[in-house]
Amino acid sequence: LPGARLIDGKAAAAQVLAEVRADVLALQAQQLTPGLAVVLVGEDPASHVYVRNKVLRANEVGINSFEYRLLADSSEQEVLDLVQQLNQEAQVNGILVQLPLPAHIDENKVLQAIDPRKDVDGFHSENVGGLSQGREVLAPCTPAGCMRLLHDHCGDLSGKHAVVVGRSNIVGKPMAALLLQAHCSVTVLHSRSVNAAALCRQADIVVAAVGRPRMIGADWLKPGAVVIDVGINRIEEDGRSRLVGDVDFDSAVQVAAAITPVPGGVGPMTIAMLMRNTVTATLLQQGLAPDH
Ligand code: NDP
Repeated sequence: LPGARLIDGKAAAAQVLAEVRADVLALQAQQLTPGLAVVLVGEDPASHVYVRNKVLRANEVGINSFEYRLLADSSEQEVLDLVQQLNQEAQVNGILVQLPLPAHIDENKVLQAIDPRKDVDGFHSENVGGLSQGREVLAPCTPAGCMRLLHDHCGDLSGKHAVVVGRSNIVGKPMAALLLQAHCSVTVLHSRSVNAAALCRQADIVVAAVGRPRMIGADWLKPGAVVIDVGINRIEEDGRSRLVGDVDFDSAVQVAAAITPVPGGVGPMTIAMLMRNTVTATLLQQGLAPDH
């Protein structure tokens, strides 16, 4: 029968959070409670929702959260000073600066100011470089979440041909690096790719991170492919607003072996991996090697 298996990101995220909670309890037994600082600059409504969810999730798993809200007209120096202060704070093991920052602040400068060992988003160049060298580092949360889903559903990925559609610094590039580290053969497609659909049809694993609603349909997929849809696109349809992925779910589900839904796929994994990274950061700072 055609019809792909659904990869349930909510259930997988709950599993990761349960593991994190157990790790937090073990750390607390040693008088160590991981702490996550979240910095929000300005009034972007979506960012407010993201930050609230991150703080809620942290508290659920026993991680201390520290919220810093700065006004939209805060200077770059004020943000840099706050990051420096958080770098020094012993109770803060992870620092997350919610993006995007207001236009007058240099995002890269702020991200580079974060102590790499507290960089739970994995955006500092030291962690980006380490990832590309195949070292164990704090990896960006969304690609790390995709890897967890893939390992859960496919087991060993060694020798598989993975196609990543999209080459952003936040998703596409680190995703490609993680897949390579897992011994996949990796192809990265982007807006200048020629014959993208034909290249994608060769993939055993497709990771879509494009930001274009339903771009990847059944004609992009080899029968039996495993499809991870990172896209979150809000569209108007039949007079109402809804969220859809970069994959045309209804056609892809007929061809793929397994597929993530949107919402309820990669989305919940991103926050779960942020909690995972906060625990990993705590262990690194204590000189304890993480066992994940
Ligand atoms: P970006 O806009 O930064 O990158 C999009 C990438 O897609 C670019 O590399 C671009 O190529 C490529 N692209 C654009 N058009 C095409 C095309 N026609 N064919 C092939 N490639 C194309 O997006 P992000 O990586 O930040 O995000 C991607 C999606 O994932 C978005 O929908 C976003 O909302 C979602 N997202 C979801 C997260 C989650 O938690 N689930 C987290 C982060 C993002 P080029 O480089 O040539 O311009």
